[in-house]
Parts: sequence; C-alpha cells; structure tokens
Amino acid sequence: MTVRVRFAPSPTGYLHIGGARTALYSYLFAKAHGGKYILRVEDTDLERSKKEFEQSQIADLKWLGIEHDEGPDCGGEFGPYRQSERMQMYKDIAWDFVERGLAYPCFLTMDELEVLTEKANSEKKAPHAYHGKFRDLPLKEAKDKIELGEEYVIRFKNPGKKLTFTDLVRGEVTFPEDMVGDFVILRANGMPVYNFCCVIDDHKMKMTHVFRADEHLNNTCRQLMIYEALGVSTDELPKFGHVSLLVGEDRQKLSKRHGATSVNQYKEEGYLSEALANYLCLLGWSHPDETDIFDVNELGELFNYDRFSKSPAMYDISKLKFFNEQWLRKLDDSVIADGFSSHIKSDHQFHQQSSEWKNNFCALMKEKVQLFSDINEFLPIFFSAAPDKDEQYTEAISWETTPQIREYLGAEVAKVSEEFITEEQVTEWMNYLKKELKIKGKPLFMGTRVCLTGRAHGPDLKKVVSLTPINIIKERLS
Ligand code: GLU
Repeated sequence: MTVRVRFAPSPTGYLHIGGARTALYSYLFAKAHGGKYILRVEDTDLERSKKEFEQSQIADLKWLGIEHDEGPDCGGEFGPYRQSERMQMYKDIAWDFVERGLAYPCFLTMDELEVLTEKANSEKKAPHAYHGKFRDLPLKEAKDKIELGEEYVIRFKNPGKKLTFTDLVRGEVTFPEDMVGDFVILRANGMPVYNFCCVIDDHKMKMTHVFRADEHLNNTCRQLMIYEALGVSTDELPKFGHVSLLVGEDRQKLSKRHGATSVNQYKEEGYLSEALANYLCLLGWSHPDETDIFDVNELGELFNYDRFSKSPAMYDISKLKFFNEQWLRKLDDSVIADGFSSHIKSDHQFHQQSSEWKNNFCALMKEKVQLFSDINEFLPIFFSAAPDKDEQYTEAISWETTPQIREYLGAEVAKVSEEFITEEQVTEWMNYLKKELKIKGKPLFMGTRVCLTGRAHGPDLKKVVSLTPINIIKERLS
C-alpha cells in the first residue's frame, strides 16, 4: 500500500510556523516511505479564506523545500484538492447520513441553544446534553418543516460509544462516550464543517497517515464517528499522529506575542530555508544520531514516528538564529556576498566594491553574523569615518601612548596612494610602534585599533583595515 500523507491548511492567513512543521513532518514521513505528499486546501470558511493566502502558503512551503505531489495547483488522481470545489459531495453525504438515520435536521435556534446550554450547566451536565432535541423527530416531519422554510442544521447522531485509537505519538487514546453530543456537520448556511469534510476527503483521497497538531486531538473523537458512518472499518483508518504543542519561552501556546510566527516573516528577514527547516524538524522530533545540524532532505528513512516527543516543544528564536548561523557558514563566499547584498541598501558603497573585495569581506564577516541582515550593524566599521565612542573607546583614546600612535599612523597613511592599505603594511607599522616607540600589549593593539577603525572592538584588525577605503581611514586620523 502506498503511503499517502496530506497537509491540509486553511488559507485564512500566512503559513504559520506550526503549520510548516506539520507540513514538514508529513512530507518527510511520505518521503521516508516512498509515498506521496498531498496538499489539500481547506477553504470551507468562505469569508476568511483568500486565494492570496493559498498562494503565499504554497510559495512558503516550496521555499522550505516541501514540494507536494498532488495539490490544487498541480492536480492529481483524487482532485479537486480545494474543499470549496467539493461542496456538493459533502452535502450529498450529509443527506445520505440523514436518510440512513445517522444524522438529522435540527431546528434549534441560537436562542434556544443558549437556554438549553444554560440548563445543562445549571444541572452540572455536559453543555451539549440537550442538543439532541430533534434527534427522534420523524424525517417526514423534518422535511415538512424544511419545506416551510424553517432554518436548520444537520447534526450527526452520536452513537454514544467509548472510542479508542492508537496515536503514533501519544499511544492509546480513549474518548469517553459523552465527550461530545450530537454535533453539527452542515451549518444553517449550508456549509459543511471541518470535522466532516476532513474525514470524507482523507478517506476519498486514500490517506494512510494523518499528522497534525496536538490541539486537533479532540476533533479525532468526532472524526472516528464519521469514519464509522462512512463504513470504514477500524483497520482501514488512517494512522493518526498528533504532534506536540509548540510553546513560547513562557510555556504558553505559541502566538504572535512571542515574535514572528509566520514563515514569510523569516524569509523576508533573510533566514535560510535550510536552517528554518532544520530547526522546525527538531521541534518535537529528534535525530537518531542525536545530531542537530542536518539537511532535512537527507534524512530519508531515518525520519520515523518513533522519535516524536510527547512534551510541548519550546520555540526559541535565539536557537533558530544559531541554526541559521551554522548554515550560513557552510555557504560559498559568493553566495554569502549575494545574501549580504540583498540586505544592504542599494545606494550603499558596499555595492561599488570589487568582487575580490566582496569575497574577502564575506570570508571575514561570515563568522560574525547570524543572519544576512546582521551585516548592516558591521558596515560602519568599514564605511563610516565617525568613531563609535563607547566607554572602552574613550578610555583607549585617553591613554598617553594613543596620540603618539595616531601621529605616526597619520604620517604613514598619508604616504599611501593605493585605494587600500595591505595587511603587511599594518604589520610593519605595528612592529615599528613596538620596537621604536616601545608601545606594547593592550596600549599597542587597542591604540592602533581605535586610531584606524574608530572603535575599540571589531573583527580581525589587519583584515578590517585592509578592507576599509583609504579615504575613510585618513579621515579617522585627521
Ligand atoms: N484545516 C485544518 C487546520 O488547518 C487541518 C487540520 C488537520 O490536519 O486535520 O488546522
């Protein structure tokens, strides 16, 4: 049997980090088993669903390297892959359930529902205890009411059985018989609900495995009932894996107040897709070799559900930055140069430098940044004559040896006619300061640094100087 796994996003917003993780797990699982990964768009909420969100979610999934085998944009054997294009089928099945006595039209108004829920609450019963008022109304009478234009929903007749299934992540899960009542499958506006469409599609699209977020666990209770009504036997059910909750550092469910939560924000901020996919993969799953930095596309058969964790996974942006840093350092200098370029304002002097300069610059700076955009913090070291007068700079400037260094370097730099000073020249000048002016240790190193770079800290001094345009250095020494 071919393994078939789907990711079923609702196009009501941008691709969320949590959704991307579910998609990645589904994709990796399908690939590990030589199966198919399917994208199904759950757009039954017509008001909130937008084409632009569908497109941006697909683009972000592809950016992460998650390519589907079947989906709304490329078709496939079990299409259409947009639920809005499958409406008639859901409605027909809902009415078929009604005809077979598995569901029924319910005419409770919102006000009546409220009263019944309150009654149940006051009697300490489940809120849905009285939702079944119309469950035994003869179908003929129900149809007459519909004919007369009465508003109705279709409710599924909960058979009231204890349900048990084995989750790939959580092990055996049991739902008590009264966990849900007779639940709605078709709303008053004629729209089918998620739990209903999802099961019909997972069944018709022949899904063998369903991975989704932990918060859907209770939905599985309703879904198991729908499977039974569809005549799907227990051994034909897809295997479910409810992956652990994503939480922020305060252990609360990940939300916008924890920072960027959509994939496109990370893409725009210049994160590398390989790093984000690598980090997401480890939020709730661990590599059998206990390694952290790996290419998700090379996992192959190593990706399996026995390494999923049940406990909530903490989403930590600083850890993601660390992953990005590791991935960035692996890139060729020319790729890094392009990455930096795209995050530096187009009129910046950086862009006018030669490709040799850019390669040397990247070789030096790739060790210093976590993200391409971090380069902007470092550019003034190379391109701004104005000093960064922090405490240590002010201290170094006040040493009695520093004016001597400045005077000597000023004279030497004035003799340079090339566009850049070489590392060898800096070495020679420092040797002179040491031998002839007897300046050593911190006063020599820090003194030379503040005079030539205008700051007390920075990457390798000689390399920085060799990459700084001479006019900037002259200005600093003037
Ligand atoms: N459309 C649902 C969601 O985005 C899908 C849940 C599922 O995978 O079953 O949460």
